[in-house]
Amino acid sequence: MSLKTRILGLAAALIIVAASASWLAYRELSENIIERWGQQVAEIQVRYDSARLLQSLEREIGLARQMASSSTLIQWAQNPDDPALQADAIRQMESFRSNFRDNSYFVALRQNGHYYYNNAANEYAGNQYRYTLDANKPEDAWFFQLIDEGRDFHLNVNPDVELGVTKVWIDVLMRNDQGEIVGMVGTGLNLDDFLQDIVDIGQEGITTLFVDYNGAIQLYRDRNYIDFASIIKPEGQKNTVDLLFEDPQDKQQILGMLQMLKQREGRVGAVESGFVTVDGRKHLAGVAFLPNIGWFEITLVDLDTLVPTSYLWPLVAVFLVSLLISLVLFHLIIQSRILRPVVALEDAVKRLREGNFNLPYLPKPDNEIGRLVDHFETMANRVQLNTRDLEQKVAQRTEELQRLARIDALTGLKNRRGLDELLEAEIERSDRSQQDFGLIWLDIDHFKAINDRHGHQAGDEILCRVALWLRANVRPYDQPGRWGGDEFVVLLSPCDAPTLERIARRICEGVEEESRKTGLPVTVSVGGYLWKPGDSSDTILREADRALYQAKAGGRNQVCIQEDSSVLPEA
Ligand code: GH3
Ligand code: MG
Repeated sequence: MSLKTRILGLAAALIIVAASASWLAYRELSENIIERWGQQVAEIQVRYDSARLLQSLEREIGLARQMASSSTLIQWAQNPDDPALQADAIRQMESFRSNFRDNSYFVALRQNGHYYYNNAANEYAGNQYRYTLDANKPEDAWFFQLIDEGRDFHLNVNPDVELGVTKVWIDVLMRNDQGEIVGMVGTGLNLDDFLQDIVDIGQEGITTLFVDYNGAIQLYRDRNYIDFASIIKPEGQKNTVDLLFEDPQDKQQILGMLQMLKQREGRVGAVESGFVTVDGRKHLAGVAFLPNIGWFEITLVDLDTLVPTSYLWPLVAVFLVSLLISLVLFHLIIQSRILRPVVALEDAVKRLREGNFNLPYLPKPDNEIGRLVDHFETMANRVQLNTRDLEQKVAQRTEELQRLARIDALTGLKNRRGLDELLEAEIERSDRSQQDFGLIWLDIDHFKAINDRHGHQAGDEILCRVALWLRANVRPYDQPGRWGGDEFVVLLSPCDAPTLERIARRICEGVEEESRKTGLPVTVSVGGYLWKPGDSSDTILREADRALYQAKAGGRNQVCIQEDSSVLPEA
């Protein structure tokens, strides 16, 4: 796997790990914030809704209490058949009617069970007595029940079958000076208006409901859930608040909250809250107890509606986009600062290893890799210089060795190999130009004897001297060489027969003459041959050797020129 793939893979893995961790942390944090915030909203909302309910009820309750404590009414209640008292009482009741918000009232007398009522339309003016409450009628049971319970104040949602109205009834007991219950007074508030004003206020995501002391639903946007005439129903038949929840745990929780608040009854502003599921959606439930009316107020806050998760999508999008941008930036930075320079460096090292000094452009980022590239370039330049130097030296040495390989160490003349090459080149050149050349082969006479007599050292000196004399007696462009032992060869180019003979004789005579001066006379026998077109090097050498043989055979210290290769017999 390439470095690039590995680094990018590692980076991607790290980013994914970091992103997942931050996503989890973010989700946890945002959920916490939303829950805490939701809790506060629920608590504020519950207080607000309670305040609204109480605000609209308090005045009515106050008036009802005032009405219940009216001495005129109490007196009449104890003497319901007294027409004067009744007339006063009716007047009083009518004055309260004009004060109640609903412009309606009811008065029920315990003694005779008479029920008086008048409404906003003053429909029953002069005819306020409507009917007589009957303890045996279920629809009248509320009256007898409240008296039995002795609850001075009661709020209850009830359809009045006789009157054909469904109202939120405010019931207050009338007591005489002895504290005996003599009747009940109150007013009603139109349920629809009430629901519209207090419960169904159109706040999206917020549901408000009121339940009584026993948890029976009193005010709720869905009338089907309202537990009408709750007071007369036995336990178990009431529409209690737990009906709204499906999860048994939620039912338990809500009832538990009611219980908790009951225990803390009287502590103003106490609110309980917790999560519940309503219609499959998570809600925060805030519950408060309203001691003034003995009801609980429950506010359900739908967090998904108030803070839909779609609110977070832009955040998620920003998160993902920045993640992507980070990855791309990381890739670009790694690419330009590390990968590209490293790959280029690897390529350059490969080239250098293969001996190619033609290095490509190497990017140099301002970091360790840039410095490494710098060092590498310096090193590569050094290696290139050293290599060139070495190559030059090797070339020089090789040339020198090649030269030395063609030079005779003792005399400094060309050796046999040098002569062979020269001869081949000369044959080629003459074949091309048809220009003759000649070859002289000479051998020192009785050299063995000289060696024997004067020693090998002296023999060597003579060889050197013969070489010197040879050089002196040929033309500057002729090529003398030592064939081996005491034999020398001279290549004469260009040459013709007279020149060949002349130079051969000059050599023969020159050696004798010069050697005489040294006190150790030396003579040489010389054979010569003039090249003819088509002659090979072997032919030339053989013919020259033959001529030399002839010179030796002829008594030595003489020149013999081989005129025609075919004339002489084989040596
Ligand atoms: P010839 O007249 O027939 O040529 O008689 P020669 O004694 O010269 O006989 P030949 O040419 O066959 O002998 C060559 C001798 O040269 C033999 C050897 O001892 C001697 N010699 C060969 N190379 C060297 C050398 O490098 N140095 C010395 N000092 N002697 C050499
Ligand atoms: Mg000899």
